[in-house]
Amino acid sequence: MRLLGRHDKPLAVGLVVGTLIVFERPLRFLLDVARDVESRYQVDLLPALAVLCGAYVFHQYHKWQDAQAEAAAAAAEARQAQERSSELERLVNFGRALAKALDVPALQQVLWQRLPQFGQERDMWVLMCGTGTWEPLVQEIGPHPRETADKLVDLATRALAIACQDEAHAEGDCLDGHLCFPMLVGERPVGVLGVRQGREAPTLAERRVLGAAAALLAIAVRNVQWFQENRDNSLRDSLTGCFNRAYGMETLDVQLQMARRASRPLSIIMFDIDEFKGVNDHFGHLAGDALLAGVGRQLGNVLRASDIKCRYGGDEFLVILPETPLTGAEQVAEALRREIARLRHPVDPSLSISASLGVASVAEGEFDVKALLARADAALYRAKRVGRDCVEVAAASLPAAARHAVLTSNVSTPAELLRDCGPQPLIPRRRIVAPVTDVA
Ligand code: GH3
Ligand code: MG
Repeated sequence: MRLLGRHDKPLAVGLVVGTLIVFERPLRFLLDVARDVESRYQVDLLPALAVLCGAYVFHQYHKWQDAQAEAAAAAAEARQAQERSSELERLVNFGRALAKALDVPALQQVLWQRLPQFGQERDMWVLMCGTGTWEPLVQEIGPHPRETADKLVDLATRALAIACQDEAHAEGDCLDGHLCFPMLVGERPVGVLGVRQGREAPTLAERRVLGAAAALLAIAVRNVQWFQENRDNSLRDSLTGCFNRAYGMETLDVQLQMARRASRPLSIIMFDIDEFKGVNDHFGHLAGDALLAGVGRQLGNVLRASDIKCRYGGDEFLVILPETPLTGAEQVAEALRREIARLRHPVDPSLSISASLGVASVAEGEFDVKALLARADAALYRAKRVGRDCVEVAAASLPAAARHAVLTSNVSTPAELLRDCGPQPLIPRRRIVAPVTDVA
């Protein structure tokens, strides 16, 4: 324990002077004794004593200076250790929060909450890249005006190009006043974290922490992408790229409830490739598969992004058209028929391709998906019966026997039940031949 602190110097001087005054007489006596000894034994005791005292004070002063320097170094080290430990704690908490984020909104939430603590009041942005596309996770957090989205994409593309040439630095690369941290998982680029440098450039330590945060973020982004891809794969049919039947049924149920609640129209189209079995039988299953894949691709040319395309089974497809009344659905179905007729036969281009389509809209008081599907399916099979390559519209209700069979059955393909119910003169047959100009 130190007896005297930095601010106690006047007190120490006072103490020394006071002691000298108090002990003036004994000191004088000692000096006289020393002078006596000097003159009796012919020695210079007092000058030697003065030199010794000076050397001692000088030595003590140096020791004190060394101790001061050591204390300052220890304090700086302790400060650094404390900073490192709080940085580590922030990174650990960031990593933990990221590990819980399994979709884009959750990831964005974590970034909005925790990313600013690594930027020290600077603007920050994060872009995620998929297959040739950029998605902003964080546009720009911070007080300065925003860069345009195109500018950020340009910066991110350049930063990734540097990283792909193995020339990126762990402390980030400076591009047009932005410190860019390319995010890679293995060889795969997943995005870029950017920090606008501002008036005061980040220190090396700050840049290292940002680099570590970007590395954690890269893994989280890849995780989210992986979950997205997996979820999509489990819902989609790999051959046609359409949603699978289970997802189609589930979505139709949700859409039906929403349409009923908001009193909005909802229509569906069911269609089936004509004489598809012949393609398989004469040209092989690979040719059949190629044709189905072509149909899947072609659907996108006619349908809106909000329309839901499903492969119902085999060569049968279901299209759900939210917010679409029957007349609009008829037009879409006719446009689909034409689009499919434009398809080229995968082996023999001289052979034509066609499909038969059935259209149905949600009818008054219709609560059940099965009944709606059954009406569309019945219309489809009527299109088959009248010669194929045409659109047929379903009646507003099923015949009583068919309706009962559909609603009391657990079978999810009501068409089979309907076919068992014999010929159904649902509505006067309507074949659409009018040219369709606007389906959007
Ligand atoms: P229709 O005009 O009456 O529809 O006659 P069709 O020959 O098209 O008869 P149908 O629709 O019943 O034929 C469906 C065929 O599709 C039967 C099945 O072997 C074949 N199929 C089902 N799934 C696949 C598939 O994934 N790939 C291939 N290549 N064929 C499939
Ligand atoms: Mg068929």
